[in-house]
Amino acid sequence: MAHVLVVEDNPASLELMVYLLKAFGHAPLTACDGLEGIEAARCVHPDLILCDIQLPGADGVEVCRRLKCDLALRNIPLIAVTAFAMVGDREKLLGEGFDGYVSKPINPQTFIDQITPYLTGEIESGVPATKAA
Ligand code: MN
Repeated sequence: MAHVLVVEDNPASLELMVYLLKAFGHAPLTACDGLEGIEAARCVHPDLILCDIQLPGADGVEVCRRLKCDLALRNIPLIAVTAFAMVGDREKLLGEGFDGYVSKPINPQTFIDQITPYLTGEIESGVPATKAA
């Protein structure tokens, strides 16, 4: 069981991720904007953070920058969850410091498999982007 922080302002996406995380025995907590997400990360120190890119408050890239320059938080795996579908966008996000990428719309068949390697330590935070694929 992992504590997974989901930062997402779209209610349908948020609900689906929360549903899937619970269905697989995890304990999700949620934030609906970037600043709330950063605050929640500080308070709870989750095992994994899933973060939308287009967010009110602070966008996902800003959230990433702030988390990755915080010594207490930088080692928490951080996965971008976004509709940006192009390869260049993916590389850009990994270059910003995200440890991985899940594309929206969320695929209920593959979502848990996509994030599990980050929970088991199979993919560690901070590995080169080429290995985080
Ligand atoms: Mn959004």
